[in-house]
Amino acid sequence: MPASAMEEVDLITGISLALPGEGPIFLGGMATEAVGYYIQVKAAAVSLPGSKMNALGTSKQQRLFIDSVFSRLDPILNVDFARQKDKQGSLIDFYSVDNIGGNKANLGMALRQGNKFDLLWKQTSGDNSICSSDKESIVHEVGHALGLRHPFDDPWNPAFTTASTAMSYNTDATMASNPWFSANDLAALVKIWGPETDPVIA
Ligand SMILES: [Zn+2]
Repeated sequence: MPASAMEEVDLITGISLALPGEGPIFLGGMATEAVGYYIQVKAAAVSLPGSKMNALGTSKQQRLFIDSVFSRLDPILNVDFARQKDKQGSLIDFYSVDNIGGNKANLGMALRQGNKFDLLWKQTSGDNSICSSDKESIVHEVGHALGLRHPFDDPWNPAFTTASTAMSYNTDATMASNPWFSANDLAALVKIWGPETDPVIA
């Protein structure tokens, strides 16, 4: 596929290091705090620029996991995430696929199209469940969409595991059962998006 159309975008250098002044330049520059996301529910042929693929559709369990990623980030970041029923105006779209770019090793990809990200993850569980590998892929690709890069631009960098950053490909055994962003990742995301400022309603 043409690399220009299937660009994996990384915006923050190093581990948990937001570049000074980088700011939320992605996702349309964020005129508002609202970020809508969409999850492809049914199996369908999907055309993305430079690529056609078959989205497998997602199960309720899989969609609930994606929802949980955003609902855990929402009170930390100055962004309000909301799932949309269609792609109109959404900034992050999820597709579960059976292959990514024809490369069996690819488990996920974040594709930027203008102000919007398409996030692909390869279902490895083979049924409607969601295994830890798929959870890792989803957390990782959300990290890309929100501006995180691989540790020093090398996802296989042996100095890091998913215990130090969800942007590593090296799975830490203790993180595998419950993939999530590290404290470093969350600090980087807060640096990018700002801390949550919504009033707390007790
Ligand atoms: Zn990546």
